[in-house]
Amino acid sequence: MSDKTEKFTAFGTIPDAYQSELLTIAGEECNEVAVRISKMQRFGIDEVEPGQLNTNAARLSMEIGNLQCMIDELVDEGLVDREWVSIGYHEKADKLPRFMRNTKVRS
Ligand SMILES: [Mg+2]
Repeated sequence: MSDKTEKFTAFGTIPDAYQSELLTIAGEECNEVAVRISKMQRFGIDEVEPGQLNTNAARLSMEIGNLQCMIDELVDEGLVDREWVSIGYHEKADKLPRFMRNTKVRS
């Protein structure tokens, strides 16, 4: 029987302060991409939010650029492996048609 007061110890390498900050910023960029996707779905691809200069498409694209920058930083810092990224990319591309309900209507 385990003692519930027993302290759990992580055996993995804990990110240092710099790496942790990069991970935090990368997570923030993931959330910003998610927000832009939601806004595009709700308000339209080419809508320009009052007070903004760019369309939802442009703003989503910029946030994806922000995220891509952070992904590159994570790769440079050794926290993300480009080969695994490539494996994940191709795995998703292969599975996508099988799991989507809709098919592309435009060429
Ligand atoms: Mg951003």
